[in-house]
Amino acid sequence: MSEPILPRIRPEIAALPPYRQGKQASADAFKLSSNENPFDPLPQVQAALERATPMNRYPDATAGALRARLAERYGVQPDAVHVASGSVAILYQFVQAAASVGDEVVYAWRSFEAYPGIPLIAGATGIPVPLAEGGRHDLDAMAAAITDRTRVVLVCTPNNPTGPIVTSAEFAAFLDAVPRDVLVLLDEAYAEFVTAPDAVDGLAERVFETHPNVVVLRTFSKAYGLAGLRVGYAIGDPRVLDAARSTAVPLSVTAAAEVAAIASLDAEDELRVRVAELVARRTTLAEGLRAQGWAVPDAQGNFVWLPTGDETTAAADAFAEAGIVVRAFAGDGIRISVGEEESLPRILDAAAALRH
Ligand SMILES: *Cc1c(COP(=O)(O)O)cnc(C)c1O
Repeated sequence: MSEPILPRIRPEIAALPPYRQGKQASADAFKLSSNENPFDPLPQVQAALERATPMNRYPDATAGALRARLAERYGVQPDAVHVASGSVAILYQFVQAAASVGDEVVYAWRSFEAYPGIPLIAGATGIPVPLAEGGRHDLDAMAAAITDRTRVVLVCTPNNPTGPIVTSAEFAAFLDAVPRDVLVLLDEAYAEFVTAPDAVDGLAERVFETHPNVVVLRTFSKAYGLAGLRVGYAIGDPRVLDAARSTAVPLSVTAAAEVAAIASLDAEDELRVRVAELVARRTTLAEGLRAQGWAVPDAQGNFVWLPTGDETTAAADAFAEAGIVVRAFAGDGIRISVGEEESLPRILDAAAALRH
């Protein structure tokens, strides 16, 4: 029989592997492969879901209540807030809006695994710029990589998966070097976990007011523990945010996600206690691993990075064997999320065994 004829797909899309999720863990294993929040949802957030618009109705397309709430929290006008079904969706919306065939999107590498696919889907060209020593962004090299074809630069702080932040001073110097008509997306998905005092904080510093080409991205998926509901936001100049509003898939933020995000903001003090606990676990983990001789870079998110190089696949297998599901980047390293308290000794034991 001859091959069935399938519809024609753009070759660069056909060559793209479909999204692969962090491995699902077996019942007795810790799933530390997706930087999820290990705590159970707060009861009041769970209860809020009951109050969402009934599911036979469409949600509010503008997520107006959540935008108003975030606007108040950050002292901006509601139009300066854009909500989407996760901040990854916002990355797609902006790149789609700003870059097309022949245009370039600059980002650090290794960084967030979603980045390379985003320009590709828009038909644009990704320009990965190698990280500097210690898993840090090389902002000088990124600025030097900007050409008159560059439309977007992605800056990830803290960097997923390596961990270090970009400092305020570094970011300010970088913005001086970036043409004012190039969009800079400051991806702060892990901002709530940052303890480095010199870290850039795009919202506290209100960078988007002095530099309307900067948009700050945050998410409810990590610190707020709402990964399963899909909700994130951008804050920036309302005229710039309009570009993302124009390319967004309409009505993709559900009412459930919106009410849960608002209830989470109401419960922020409680959630901050959990974040502080995760930060303490991160310190235990990073220091324990360094004491074993691992060159763990500065860890400012809810994860640590083990530079396992050529041994990565074998090391990931050894962790899996020990009941720890990690995210492995073959030939490079392993990212381990900060999860349950009981996972810490298991991780440290398995990591120590790898050093022998
Ligand atoms: C997790 C993450 C996001 C946000 O994910 P959503 O669940 O889509 O909000 C964005 N950027 C980075 C670097 C991340 O690690």
